[in-house]
Amino acid sequence: MSEKRKITVAYGDGIGPEIMHATLDILHAAGANIAPEVIEIGEKVYSQGVSTGIAPSAWDSLRSTKVFLKAPITTPQGGGFKSLNVTTRTTLGLYANVRPCRAYSPYISTLHSHLDLVIIRENEEDLYAGIEHQQTGEVVQCLKLISRPGCEKIIRYAFEYAKAYKRKKVTCFTKDNIMKLADGLFHKVFNEIGEEYPDIIKEHMIIDIGSAMLADKPETLDVIVTLNLYGDIISDIAAQIAGSVGLGGSANIGESCAMFEAIHGSAPPIAGKDIANPSGLINAAIMMLVHIGQSDIAEKINNAWLKTIEDGIHTADVYRIGTSKEIVGTKAFAEAVINNLGQVPSRLKPVEFQSVDSSKLYHQTKTDAITTKELVGIDVFLDWNEHDRDAKVLGKKLEAVAPAALPLKMISNRGVTVYPEGKPETFHSDHWRCRFVHPEGKPTTHTVLLDLLKRINDEAKLDVIKTENLYFFNGERAYSLAQGE
Ligand code: NAD
Repeated sequence: MSEKRKITVAYGDGIGPEIMHATLDILHAAGANIAPEVIEIGEKVYSQGVSTGIAPSAWDSLRSTKVFLKAPITTPQGGGFKSLNVTTRTTLGLYANVRPCRAYSPYISTLHSHLDLVIIRENEEDLYAGIEHQQTGEVVQCLKLISRPGCEKIIRYAFEYAKAYKRKKVTCFTKDNIMKLADGLFHKVFNEIGEEYPDIIKEHMIIDIGSAMLADKPETLDVIVTLNLYGDIISDIAAQIAGSVGLGGSANIGESCAMFEAIHGSAPPIAGKDIANPSGLINAAIMMLVHIGQSDIAEKINNAWLKTIEDGIHTADVYRIGTSKEIVGTKAFAEAVINNLGQVPSRLKPVEFQSVDSSKLYHQTKTDAITTKELVGIDVFLDWNEHDRDAKVLGKKLEAVAPAALPLKMISNRGVTVYPEGKPETFHSDHWRCRFVHPEGKPTTHTVLLDLLKRINDEAKLDVIKTENLYFFNGERAYSLAQGE
């Protein structure tokens, strides 16, 4: 037998230790060729004053094994603590979150007996960068950052995943009818990369109708690829409508490392009672085995698990009078799976895995070269709360200090144009965006912009809270227009 594959394991908090023991018992009984290295994460580590919840020495194990099987942790209440999941994803570059969801009808009750889909969620960008600022007394902002390499990586991953797992269709969910630049980039890259996969059906849906389809007709969806926030929300919906959030596993995949975990939390109220369902972590461990090239063992465990579910041997969370036959605890459920190793379900479709190393699904991106970048103006954001917030007064003040080469084009308030043309019904907050741009779109310089800012500060005596430069990239306008601009 080849040398055992080292993996890093964390038992976590709450129900974590029970479900991890159950999962590892199954893995060992099935003959998984693994050598777990245990690291400490969660409550114990947080209480030692480590704000990330993971001991600095644990990174050495993660960097050397590159594979992390993680039980849930309890997130401490109060400020000063960082999310362990976000830290692990960003530190190890785990850019793809993969969540398969499948119905196990009629054994686990669901309205969608044909549901069988995979959500591939971008994991590193979007609003999750957590860049937030209070800008005025009334307005806070959270920056949504989307990069082309980030889009290329996750979208290519989704197509490669579909190819490797013989999925037929990839559906992209965005909100690019509103966020034309940010979500528009994701959609554009989806179209570009999709062309390289002629055998896979491609479709795009606006996230709102996409979510409605997911909730109502999930059997029409196959692989879904989407941005971080949308993916976060829809993956819980998909898991719930499949039957139970307690069953789902997820993989976080990077170029060199990967982390596998159940999608549920540490469930403190049922901890230590031997009643938690270990299935979420078992399903995560199955994905891990495929990832490390032990697909035969993954298949064996998955089919034994399906057989156990089909036999009606259920933990309390999925137990239903009529469909279930026996209610069991965590340990007894694991024993039932172990007893079924080598068997396949008779009514539920058995799984067949081929060897897929998920990290190989990553391909180098080919970011388009930017050949020209022209500075054409500036958006100046102001905190202004005078003259009954009359936009005309503000407009006149700004026009008085704007140079001829960079006149005031418009002022908007929360994205709606309020000057020179505005509607009396539009609400004015204390947060104003004032756009200065050459009428014929001629380029400007940083010196002109700095001079303008100095005059707004010194002469108009207005409170500048931030600025955004306006550019044309490769001859195309690279900023959005305000409503009514
Ligand atoms: P939770 O998922 O722990 O629990 C939600 C509900 O589902 C509870 O009723 C719980 O009893 C039940 N449940 C969850 N897993 C179960 C299982 N395996 N078997 C049977 N029932 C199960 O979510 P929560 O209560 O919002 O969070 C509890 C703690 O877990 C919090 O500290 C939260 O921050 C943390 N959390 C951690 C992770 C993670 O480590 N990946 C993920 C989510 C939540």
